[in-house]
Amino acid sequence: MLILRPNCELCDKDLPADSDEAMICTYECTFCQSCVENVLDNVCPNCGGGFCHRPIRPVHAHRENVSLAHHPASTERVHTPFTVEQIRAFSQSVKNKHAK
Ligand SMILES: [Zn+2]
Ligand SMILES: [Zn+2]
Repeated sequence: MLILRPNCELCDKDLPADSDEAMICTYECTFCQSCVENVLDNVCPNCGGGFCHRPIRPVHAHRENVSLAHHPASTERVHTPFTVEQIRAFSQSVKNKHAK
C-alpha cells in the first residue's frame, strides 16, 4: 500500500494526505511540486525516475474498510541526504543520458 509521507524530502514542506502539491516517484520518494519543478527537474534524486501527482486517498469509506481513517498517512518525516547542488548535478546527468 502507498505510504503517504508527511513532508517534502528536500524543503520539508508539510504534505498532508489531501495535498495536491505532493509528488511521488515509483519508489514513493515524496517531494513538493515546487521542488520537483524548480530543483529536481522531474528527476528523483534517489532513483533517477520521474514524478506523478500523489493520488488522494478517500477520507471517508465509499467501500467497507478502505479510507484514510482505515489506512492513515505516515507520520515519519523523510529528509534527503543530498545537497541541492548534488541533486541538480544528478538531474543533469540523468537528463543527458536520456538525450542521447
Ligand atoms: Zn519541497
Ligand atoms: Zn525515487
